[in-house]
Amino acid sequence: MQIPSAEAGRIIVPRANRINRQGVSARPGSPGRDLGGRGRGRRLVGTKSPMDSPHAVEPDSRDPCCGQEPPVLVPVTLYSSEAEPTLRRCADESGCRLFAAVGGPTGSFVIQAVPSALQGLRNRLLPVPALQLVREAIEWALGDAAAPAGLPQLHQDLYKKTSVAEEMPVEAGTTLLVSKDFTFDAAHNLPRYIGKCERLHGHTFRLRVTVKAPLDTWSGMAFDFMALKRTVSERVVAILDHAYINEIVPNPSAEFIAIWVWRRLSDLPLHEVKVWETPTSFVTYQGPPPPTS
Ligand SMILES: [Zn+2]
Repeated sequence: MQIPSAEAGRIIVPRANRINRQGVSARPGSPGRDLGGRGRGRRLVGTKSPMDSPHAVEPDSRDPCCGQEPPVLVPVTLYSSEAEPTLRRCADESGCRLFAAVGGPTGSFVIQAVPSALQGLRNRLLPVPALQLVREAIEWALGDAAAPAGLPQLHQDLYKKTSVAEEMPVEAGTTLLVSKDFTFDAAHNLPRYIGKCERLHGHTFRLRVTVKAPLDTWSGMAFDFMALKRTVSERVVAILDHAYINEIVPNPSAEFIAIWVWRRLSDLPLHEVKVWETPTSFVTYQGPPPPTS
């Protein structure tokens, strides 16, 4: 990921966050100040009002999220890379924007949204442990809960971002397909087939997983190759490699293997799964048909 030579990070802290948890208002007129909270929950906050601070977020006319309500930046950390696609999807549906936090720990992100959109995002998050810290950080930003432990300790200057990548302007709504290839060696037989594939045999299977994701115009990325590699390796390749697939997938034709893979990855923004039995023989699965009403 390239770090753009953007302006210094611009940050606004929600009103609730300008009050420390001992009920003392942060001192106005000083730059970002470490509130010195307990343990890992410490964070830095800006203390000027949004309009008199060089670090304030000024409403951006290009930014549909900002409307009349002042936007809020929420730092979050994901300890599971598998949660990122879900968070991205929920953020997109809620009208929130998700940025990688440059210079922060791995898995650090910044959510930018107006409070109403943040509430929508909170309501969309599944009640799974991987997203619990995100939910707590949002509730803290909204003033509904005390600061949770584990908030990223990021100085506001690390929130370097711009609305678009000036180096390569792209149209809003640009979406890309992102693919990763894998191979695994495995045995199978096709009990319903009449012919030599009815007997036990093996292949070096090739698998291609393709996701479809909107371009993050700041980072220039739509989906992290490494996150895709890790997820597919853990959930699919590690299970099928050097296995007798019939013990995992019933009647494991390439078609059934592709459908099984899709179901294992159904929380990703999948576009397509391809499975090769040989270099010239492969199937493509693009997901279940839409339900008929
Ligand atoms: Zn075969």
